[in-house]
Amino acid sequence: MNASATLPPVCPQCGQTDEVCRVSDLVHDEPDSLLAQKLAAPRSPRPAAVIGCATSFFATMVSISAAIFATGLTELTSSAPRTNLLFGVRDTSVFTGIITFLFVFVGVHAMFVWRQARASRYFRRAFSAWHHASERWQQLHYCARCNGVFLPGQTALTPVEQVQMLLYARRPPQQAATNPANAPPSGVEGG
Ligand SMILES: [Zn+2]
Repeated sequence: MNASATLPPVCPQCGQTDEVCRVSDLVHDEPDSLLAQKLAAPRSPRPAAVIGCATSFFATMVSISAAIFATGLTELTSSAPRTNLLFGVRDTSVFTGIITFLFVFVGVHAMFVWRQARASRYFRRAFSAWHHASERWQQLHYCARCNGVFLPGQTALTPVEQVQMLLYARRPPQQAATNPANAPPSGVEGG
């Protein structure tokens, strides 16, 4: 036997290697099969949208609208004499409009910055989970006889339908139990 280096791991259910293959090979060879779709590689999360021109444009439009509204409202409700006119309206109204513009402009941007910070926090978490799942997926093997998947060293087979649970589990199940130091001695000679 010269293929010992690439020998697949033993299936934890049937104890054989003849029907075992790497899931990534299986998906690569027959990407359109139903099994390959069930065992497809974890999808990477989409990155959060960045604050760009559209955001600034939106903030400007909202701010201008708010400023015009505030100016008009102050002009209508103000009882101050129309002595100091600026652009045809009272200067207090113009002042109110400018202040409103600045506050709304900063406020809208702050809201977007806060939302983006939250989105990128979610993304980092999702990306980290996806990264671990991908690494685990590369190690995943499928036994055609038992119709289940397992990670090398795992003591139980996972049904194909529960592959996502296996990939995204906080820690791979039953890996500590396969430590060779804990295994019962099998080749001890009685003397
Ligand atoms: Zn098997």
